[in-house]
Amino acid sequence: MNKKNVESPANKADADTISLSLSSKNYRYTKEDIDNFFTSDNGQKEEHTLEESICRPLIGKQSFKPFFLYCKMCPKVEFLYLESMEDHIRLKDPERHKIKLLEFLDNEEKEGKKVTKSND
Ligand SMILES: [Zn+2]
Repeated sequence: MNKKNVESPANKADADTISLSLSSKNYRYTKEDIDNFFTSDNGQKEEHTLEESICRPLIGKQSFKPFFLYCKMCPKVEFLYLESMEDHIRLKDPERHKIKLLEFLDNEEKEGKKVTKSND
């Protein structure tokens, strides 16, 4: 009986910004999309919000005004505009950023499988 250990995990969400395990059930991009993003000349073309950004797993948002966006891999890199942030990810050290995005994608797939298995 260790009921005391059952604490609410409610506050866990934004504490750890380095790990890319955001609950991105709505991350709908594939490896191919990521490839295309990095080879394109102007990034993600269609209008999109931060939540819809192909770079979403790499982008953090400050919780205070003016809500700068920052790169989770390069914490010193901050921009006010999503487009600038995406340009950073696409143009500055693209290989590193891309690998991390693909890694994230990979983890998501594994996580998904785990979840369906534990339904016993
Ligand atoms: Zn970066």
